[in-house]
Amino acid sequence: MGYTISRLSSVKQSASASISEKARLMRAQGKPVVDLGLGEPDFDTPIHIIDAAYRAALNGETRYTNTSGTHALRSAVSEKFLKENNLHLPPNQVFVANGAKQVIFNALMATLEFGHEVIFCAPYFDSYRNMVKVLGGEITVIQCRAEDNFILSPEALEHAITPATRWLILNSPSNPAGAVYRAAQYRALGDVLARHPHVLVMSDEIYEHIVFDNVEFVSFAAVCPELCDRTLTINGVSKAYAMTGWRIGYGGGPTELINAMTTIQSQICSGASAISQAAALAALTGPQDCVEAFRNSYQARRDLVVEAVSKIDGLKLQPPEGAFYALIDAREALKRRAMTDVEFVHELLDRAGVAAVPGSVYEMPGFFRISTASNHAILEDAMNRIASLVQKSPSGVAA
Ligand code: PMP
Repeated sequence: MGYTISRLSSVKQSASASISEKARLMRAQGKPVVDLGLGEPDFDTPIHIIDAAYRAALNGETRYTNTSGTHALRSAVSEKFLKENNLHLPPNQVFVANGAKQVIFNALMATLEFGHEVIFCAPYFDSYRNMVKVLGGEITVIQCRAEDNFILSPEALEHAITPATRWLILNSPSNPAGAVYRAAQYRALGDVLARHPHVLVMSDEIYEHIVFDNVEFVSFAAVCPELCDRTLTINGVSKAYAMTGWRIGYGGGPTELINAMTTIQSQICSGASAISQAAALAALTGPQDCVEAFRNSYQARRDLVVEAVSKIDGLKLQPPEGAFYALIDAREALKRRAMTDVEFVHELLDRAGVAAVPGSVYEMPGFFRISTASNHAILEDAMNRIASLVQKSPSGVAA
């Protein structure tokens, strides 16, 4: 109707959310749909965390908190950063918001002028792109390749940096590729960044605890401590503790940035829910065996999907090293079907009843992403459906 800002025209709704919406609608019509579109743990939040939230509500923790988070939670995050990541970030350099997404958005809002450039790698979490766009920034996408394990090379980074670059966003383990950076790879990127002091680094570590095959997770700022004064480390409880609906994310970084983010948050939402913050505190300070149990399940599910894909002619999958997605290379199958990934994903939903996300959303045309955060029975069923569709011709006649 013409009353929204023009730059909104380049911003898209979250792709996985809209596919899941279509899947829900089909299910409501009685169709048997398997939703592997959305990226969230299927586990319930551990009971001791729910208990802590209930007690907090009963004890009157029902009011506004400090804008950047309760002191107790920020202290717990500060300790977590030190203990698990070897990052020295005192509580006043910690910021809590409604999910990691809001931490990212506040940071970009606090720092991006119109025309500033933000570098990240494809395939990428689509919110990076859309947040930058809505804020009037420019995106610089570096294409990473399956053959390179979707890892950014120092040469490609050097080439992408310009005087207008404001941020480099890193994401390990990554959504959607499951790429996990090693310390040496971060070190090489750090050496490039040392030559460009105007570039800030955002390290999105939300999938930290979901790593496979004994790969060691490392935090960017721990490998490059000399860049701590321009690095914002992002994390949260959504994925590690099965708490997506509680909406608590956090970040740690330089005081000036944290203060600016706090100013923005004070005007926008006054802070995160007090009760959810009490729950996040219990998650970080309580027993951690749930984290390991979830990780083991994700590993078994990843193995199941890798094995199933290896038996489907026309599909390929580089085993993801972390997170709970499989970004499946369907280029061969799509060539045979003369189809784009977007058309394929619609066919997958309409004819096989499996909701997935087209790779184009992540600038990886020819691929599609499934979430592996479902139980074995669901994943087996979905992989059988995918296999039988890929083996059929587009018209439904067996190929
Ligand atoms: N970063 C990445 C890479 C993600 O995949 C997600 C969730 N899909 C988020 C951040 C946001 O997490 P939260 O629920 O804490 O907002």
